Amino acid sequence: SHPSRGASMNSAAEPAPTYRTGFHIGGRWVSPLGTDEISVENPATEQVIGRVPAGTAADVDRAVAAARAAFPGWAALAPTERAAHLERLHRRLTARAGEIAHTVACELGTPLKIAARVQAGLPLTVLDSYVTLAASPPEEETVGNSLVVREPVGVVGAITPWNYPLHQVVAKVAPALAAGCTVVLKPAELTPLVAYLLFDAVDEAGLPPGVVNLVTGTGPVAGAALAAHPGVDMVSFTGSTATGTQISRLAADRIARVSLELGGKSANIIFEDADLAGAVKVGVGNAFLNSGQTCTAWTRMLVHRSRYDEAVDLAGKAAGGYRLGDPFDPATRLGPLVSAGQRERVRGYVERGLAEGARLVTGGLDAPVPDTGYFVAPTVLADVDPDSTVAQEEIFGPVLAVIPFDDDDHAVAIANNSKYGLAGAVWSGDQDRAVAVARRLRTGAVDVNGGAFNPLAPFGGYKQSGVGRELGAHGLAEFLEVKSIQR
Ligand code: NAD
Repeated sequence: SHPSRGASMNSAAEPAPTYRTGFHIGGRWVSPLGTDEISVENPATEQVIGRVPAGTAADVDRAVAAARAAFPGWAALAPTERAAHLERLHRRLTARAGEIAHTVACELGTPLKIAARVQAGLPLTVLDSYVTLAASPPEEETVGNSLVVREPVGVVGAITPWNYPLHQVVAKVAPALAAGCTVVLKPAELTPLVAYLLFDAVDEAGLPPGVVNLVTGTGPVAGAALAAHPGVDMVSFTGSTATGTQISRLAADRIARVSLELGGKSANIIFEDADLAGAVKVGVGNAFLNSGQTCTAWTRMLVHRSRYDEAVDLAGKAAGGYRLGDPFDPATRLGPLVSAGQRERVRGYVERGLAEGARLVTGGLDAPVPDTGYFVAPTVLADVDPDSTVAQEEIFGPVLAVIPFDDDDHAVAIANNSKYGLAGAVWSGDQDRAVAVARRLRTGAVDVNGGAFNPLAPFGGYKQSGVGRELGAHGLAEFLEVKSIQR
């Protein structure tokens, strides 16, 4: 056993603390150059469950140097060889699916059953999709007398958030490696433990040294050092729009390529001819998934005025039925928020919404929640003014705003009245009408009548929701340069 592997958590009731003391740089676990540490808290128990090192700029330097050294060799491999490495990684990570779900349930509070599906299952699906895509990168083209070829961008700095802590990492690392880039990862400081499981799998899979490197740490120190590093050719960031702005500025000083997956305030448009009960049920489920800490969450439910009262009633009943509590209780539907700070932010928004005239349908600040843990009751606000704070700002908690509309144009206008443009939904008995409205939404993704999630479909934002796309072939293309050779 190596120095960096801590005791693994295996009891649901009392997970053993996980201490990780190293970074993964150049194919091995190395000691940090500084002495600062980050404590990891279980937000359901408010107990410290682990500790990881807080990297410094010097640690980031070392990791970038390792990634630079590995780049020429990795880029020169045949696509099928890179695919074989990713396939081995997928196999090793799949063997850890249970451990992954358990770890995220502990460090983030996602109910275990849901964590197995979205916190472990989703990234495994995405990684698997890049095994295939790595083997068949975009074809070279001939345009007149030019040969158009694609080459990996180089060294990628990946900076990720806490809400889907493994998925957000895999959505960057898998396509970057598939494209022939090498990576330095700086995961979120609130949920760094699951990233260590990925690097355990990297070790087991025998990826070439330095192809993917891990430095944990805080955003302002390790994150900023990575974004500003002259040895990093591209920064791939997921997180808040505020931090994305800072990252863009740091990258701009050297014209590094940037891809940004940022916040959202997505609209779920329900027309009068929709299956109302189904649309509301799925809509509430989407808004509250992962305690509402989901960038694509449909946090604004727009309902045709003729069915509005009915929808508010259904939404209130659905939300009121959510079982809140211990993430390890199979009956739990809603876990805590990630931190005390996040809970206070969300509570502040609920207060603000009511002060700005919204009507409380269910939940709110006085609704009962467990004494321990950072819980907010599932909250539905009706009669929300589309210009008010809770209809404009990303809350990142279990708070749904219901808003009436009069006709298709009105619905589209309210939906597009946002600085964000990440996702959305349209429900109508008339599929053509729904798709026509979907085309008019200024967002990167729209689900029509509950259209199923597609891991190969491009994912990303319009407006302040971001730049670039993740997932599928579009996600891989983000990590490729284009060269024309005239003959
Ligand atoms: P955040 O922006 O605070 O942090 C994200 C990452 O950036 C973390 O790793 C953090 O350490 C790092 N960071 C913070 N300050 C930095 C700096 N100055 N320089 C470099 N790195 C820095 O976001 P968060 O609180 O972790 O996540 C919540 C936000 O992320 C929400 O707004 C949510 O909408 C957004 N998000 C977007 C998507 C998407 O795909 N569009 C997905 C998940 C989350």
